[in-house]
Amino acid sequence: MLRPESAADAAFRHEVRDWLAAHVPEALRHKTFRPLPVEGMPWYRALSQRGWIAPHWPRTHGGMGASPVQQVILMEEMARAGTPDFPTQGLNHIGPMLIARGTPAQQQRHLGPILAGDAIWCQGYSEPGAGSDLASLRTRAEVRGDTLVINGHKIWTTWGHHADWMFALVRTASSGKPQHGITFVLIDMKTPGIRRRPIRTIAGDEEFAEVFLDEVVVPLENVVGEIDKGWQVATAVLSEERLRIGAPAQALRALERLRMMLRATPAERLPPGVHEAVALAEVEVETLVAAYLEAAEATEQGLAADSSYLKLLATDTVHRLLELVRQVAGPAAALRDATRHGADLLDATEMFLQARRLGIYGGSSEVQRNIIATRVLGLPVAGAKP
Ligand SMILES: Cc1cc2nc3c(=O)[nH]c(=O)nc-3n(C[C@H](O)[C@H](O)[C@H](O)COP(=O)(O)OP(=O)(O)OC[C@H]3O[C@@H](n4cnc5c(N)ncnc54)[C@H](O)[C@@H]3O)c2cc1C
Repeated sequence: MLRPESAADAAFRHEVRDWLAAHVPEALRHKTFRPLPVEGMPWYRALSQRGWIAPHWPRTHGGMGASPVQQVILMEEMARAGTPDFPTQGLNHIGPMLIARGTPAQQQRHLGPILAGDAIWCQGYSEPGAGSDLASLRTRAEVRGDTLVINGHKIWTTWGHHADWMFALVRTASSGKPQHGITFVLIDMKTPGIRRRPIRTIAGDEEFAEVFLDEVVVPLENVVGEIDKGWQVATAVLSEERLRIGAPAQALRALERLRMMLRATPAERLPPGVHEAVALAEVEVETLVAAYLEAAEATEQGLAADSSYLKLLATDTVHRLLELVRQVAGPAAALRDATRHGADLLDATEMFLQARRLGIYGGSSEVQRNIIATRVLGLPVAGAKP
């Protein structure tokens, strides 16, 4: 941490550090796999009871209302303490969206269970034929009376097989631009007609799933915003998602892994130039922290943050750090399992593989570059006629 800190923020850091030292379960500390809900949710609930599960949510909706600096302090101390990571579709995607755009009844029903860890959410955007080109999605929904009847197929749904609820994009009309006729809806995963099949990732875990929807009946009151006008809601969620993926949490965890690997490696086995590379990596993490602080402050003030740039920066920083971990590990990088070294848990490969996802979900890095090129820099769209 290279930044100066106010007395209040320093006191907050100590409070967090002491509490984490006493409360992070030993079995989860510096775990290389993201834990399954059965292992990870007790930790989620412990954080919730301490009041620290939703730093970025306003106090009026049960959040911590933490300043961006305090948010970063929490991330830094959690990385240091090796707290487990978990998917955050409830906390970072649907929660903030319902706070901004949900009806009072939707807020009342869903925000409490998200905070308490009583409801796990998943995101039903991607389909076999609709990823980067999300607006081409084909899961259909028909209005019948005061319900929507949904038929279709979602894929790459993180924790889709564990979730209690899904927020999904469905097609309710197919005339006009593809972005028109998309509706944003909340689906209770216990509804008859839903089938889920886990998919194994490159890292060997089963974090995501396919979800098949066959005549799934959902009350119209579960629509967020208006029928056919869900695209704006969907892109607002994506923007928030990119801001949160762009937070330095993952980079700080990767930096911690790098420090562990350095502590465990005898000086004579370190690759040449590694100290300079590590110093540079630390500066890159601080650059990311600064960019996040700026974006989070802009968001707090209701200004548009450049979340595509932030996501790209976070992804590239994490990838560089984990590449460095592998260089320091040398031949040991070929070992798949984490190994203990005193209090440290050494892992060169698991996190490297898991981090590939950062450049794909929430919109791939190529797509973020396109957005920056066209919407931020005003460059012409590739392939478009002049
Ligand atoms: C770990 C993980 C978790 C995920 N979780 C979820 C989830 O919970 N819910 C959900 O809905 N989805 C989820 N996804 C899906 C994710 O959003 C999509 O994988 C992503 O949007 C890319 O879509 P695609 O896989 O169909 O690839 P494609 O869109 O087919 O892209 C293939 C390749 O082409 C490139 N490409 C595509 N279009 C362009 C372009 N215009 N210009 C330049 N390059 C381009 C892409 O960058 C990529 O490299 C997850 C994905 C991963 C890896």
